[in-house]
Amino acid sequence: MQQLKDRIKKDGVVIGNDVLKVDCFLNHQIDPMLMDSIGAEFHRLFSDQKIDRVLTIEASGIAAAVMTAKYFGCPLVFAKKSRTVNQSANVYTSKAFSFTHKTENTVTVSKEYIHAGENVLIIDDFLANGCALRALRDIVIQAGAIPVGAGIIIEKAFQNGGAELRAEGLRIESLARVKSMSETDGIEFI
Ligand code: 5GP
Repeated sequence: MQQLKDRIKKDGVVIGNDVLKVDCFLNHQIDPMLMDSIGAEFHRLFSDQKIDRVLTIEASGIAAAVMTAKYFGCPLVFAKKSRTVNQSANVYTSKAFSFTHKTENTVTVSKEYIHAGENVLIIDDFLANGCALRALRDIVIQAGAIPVGAGIIIEKAFQNGGAELRAEGLRIESLARVKSMSETDGIEFI
């Protein structure tokens, strides 16, 4: 998606070798017009599928996911992150190591909001090592629903999550795939 790549080039800040900061349009301040275009693009890419529900993880996936759900005319559910072990029986849970916070989160979704047999499209802001996506896919499977695919805004293709999950059969559509990045040389896309 050229509009997104241009924006990443313009406003993205590379930290070290593997963190891309896009706080000014995605992770802190949000550009609603860009989020709308992203939602339209995910709708176009997955238009061959009937989508019953969009699933993301709080917080940064929500904006693009809600726009995607609007185009599909379906609800958006976001998984909650908590570090407590105090779980209600009424939730699906999975564990995900947080790439940005370097802590393990327990990810939960209420059993009320995802049901057996539903086609679920997973949306997230970044794909790095794949922990967040695995946790979301795991919850979909626990519910007896079908993970029809994942829409990722920015995939850091030099990290191994995308290759591993595609090899496991998950359909992943990424709008910008970063081949390499560094503080000195900037960002290169695939
Ligand atoms: P993974 O679980 O695939 O290792 O990492 C994906 C999750 O970590 C995403 O939900 C995203 O919030 C966060 N993340 C991973 N890499 C980056 C990055 O370079 N920049 C930002 N802002 N978040 C990232």
